[in-house]
Amino acid sequence: MDAKAGARERLRGVEKTVLGLSHRLHAHPELGFEEENASLWLSEALREAGFEVERGVCGMPTAFSARSGNGPLHVAICAEYDALPGIGHACGHNLIAAMAIGAGIAAAKVADEVGLTVHVLGTPAEEVGNASGKVLMLERGGFAGIHAAMMVHPAPAEMLEAHLIAASMFDVRYTGKEAHASATPELGINAADALTVAQTSIGLLRQHLRPTDRVHGITTHGGDAPNVVPAHTSARYIVRADTLEELKDVRKRVYCCFEAGAVATGAKLEILGGDKPYADVRYDHEISGVYRKNAEALGRQFPTLPPMLARIAASTDMGNVSQVIPSIHPMIGLNTLPAANHQPEFTAHCITPVADKAALDGSLAMAWTAIDLATTPELRARLLKS
Ligand SMILES: [Zn+2]
Ligand SMILES: [Zn+2]
Repeated sequence: MDAKAGARERLRGVEKTVLGLSHRLHAHPELGFEEENASLWLSEALREAGFEVERGVCGMPTAFSARSGNGPLHVAICAEYDALPGIGHACGHNLIAAMAIGAGIAAAKVADEVGLTVHVLGTPAEEVGNASGKVLMLERGGFAGIHAAMMVHPAPAEMLEAHLIAASMFDVRYTGKEAHASATPELGINAADALTVAQTSIGLLRQHLRPTDRVHGITTHGGDAPNVVPAHTSARYIVRADTLEELKDVRKRVYCCFEAGAVATGAKLEILGGDKPYADVRYDHEISGVYRKNAEALGRQFPTLPPMLARIAASTDMGNVSQVIPSIHPMIGLNTLPAANHQPEFTAHCITPVADKAALDGSLAMAWTAIDLATTPELRARLLKS
């Protein structure tokens, strides 16, 4: 039996485990850095499949690192498993995790035969937008010795190299002074007005942003009572741009808008976070091509995208990995339009038979890609040198 057939047979043997994990995670959504059940369930499945597993790596209780095989080429498959507040697995990270487990176990079956060491890395908190799991694991040596990295992400349609841009998430706090809002308003410093001025300034700034820039946020605290001048307000914002370099520029301009709020009202401004942004994804086109062939061999198709998906601009901490390790981040289609990621309708799509089929296809396409990296001489040599 050849290596790919061996991997396929191994995956068949753990289909129930893989889909069971997807469904279990979907039923128990956990937020970033709180994924206690997910990290336990996933690492147990890998341990049962013969992986050496270390939990709580890189100073993060819900991160894990699992390895199998002893070949010279080290390939990492990244598992994400955090959910979104209020709407559960609306980004389908239950499927990302299930595919990482399926791919890891399937590839591990033939790892020594093809000269591979398979790593499944449990990378928490992808949705947090700053100092996330992969960012911290990269800093702390969690990706040391890895020659290539991959993961597959659910989406409305199949996309080989979606446009994934740089992003920075930060918190803003204004501190003013309380006063009776009617009796003695002249004694107050209005922190809610500061936020209003900032939001108005950002609205005006939009005319002068590049079409590829994004600014969006929420008010996390707007005041406590209508008859007390708000002394404390806060907001959480994300700024995005095509590259880290462009991000610096747009972030500076957005910070100026928040300063405008402070200047206009006399409230004190603090900006927290934003210090460990997500980088844009730099695809290894050759590995993308290998994945595409394997996905197509399983009957998956990469269609011409409708305009809405062609101009998509999301971000991921896989971008930071891709800047230093040859990486891919293909999207697997669940045929969900008009529903898309981060909508509750998409949550519902991540637990259907279509999603289950995608989870198994994504698992095998990644396992086969890992095998191809190990068995294509020129590609293998390039990765070993990287
Ligand atoms: Zn998401
Ligand atoms: Zn996601």
